[in-house]
Amino acid sequence: MKLAMYDAGAGPRVGVVNDGRVTDAGWAGSMIALISEWDRRRPEVEARLQDAPAIPLAAVRLLPPVARPGKIFAIGLNYADHIAESHMETPVHQVWFTKAVTSVNGPFDPVLIARGAPFVDYEAELVAIIGRGGKHIAKADAAAHVFGYCVGNDVTERVWQHRSGQWSLGKSFDTHAPIGPWITTADEVADPHALAIACQVNGETRQDSNTRHLVFDVFDQIAHLSQAMTLEPGDLIFTGTPGGIGAAMEPRRFLQAGDVVRCDIEGLGHIENTLAAEA
Ligand code: ZN
Repeated sequence: MKLAMYDAGAGPRVGVVNDGRVTDAGWAGSMIALISEWDRRRPEVEARLQDAPAIPLAAVRLLPPVARPGKIFAIGLNYADHIAESHMETPVHQVWFTKAVTSVNGPFDPVLIARGAPFVDYEAELVAIIGRGGKHIAKADAAAHVFGYCVGNDVTERVWQHRSGQWSLGKSFDTHAPIGPWITTADEVADPHALAIACQVNGETRQDSNTRHLVFDVFDQIAHLSQAMTLEPGDLIFTGTPGGIGAAMEPRRFLQAGDVVRCDIEGLGHIENTLAAEA
């Protein structure tokens, strides 16, 4: 199933996406609340698809599928070609940073270039959404804790990222975590480690890879993170970006106001965001 948050003029609603149309899921709460109760609620949601009206996606605004996750963790240096372009060694231990939950942005909303932070770059990433929470999740059990997957852009301000030893501020500017366009539930993703992933800037391909090249796969990541912290429904895990970032080009190319960044993942759809200067 493909679950979106959308607004057709009456405020945010959870909807089910099918063939370019969205059907109200009949759920008044948040996406996280629905994820938490999914096993019980899924039959009700499926029943609504039989008779509730379907609205063309073109007539609604798609919102971030999880507006305010409890936490967002993102892994660095997790594709070999990105490690090489970053002139780094393949990490022995997984490299984690947080993105502020306030950085979440809609799949087609503007990404802002903040005052004093103009070195903005893209990172197309597969995002895993936690379903059933847990602590000390074994790698072999990790798939059962994934609710679904979506497309994300781990937008990064490179100077703020690297001018101290801690990347999180450079990863946490408002609007710098666009996600969507909806959540594809895990049962519809046959293998999360065999998905084409790409990023285009103004139609020019900058990243073009496949999730089979992840150094630490999604389930390694869940097992590792959950040793330290309890994962909860709706938590987001950005699983790393392939080579091709603007900061590694020669000369370096950062995003400018008016640029259009599109991130695509096979089977999950795409997000597309236009850069704009912060007011
Ligand atoms: Zn990233």
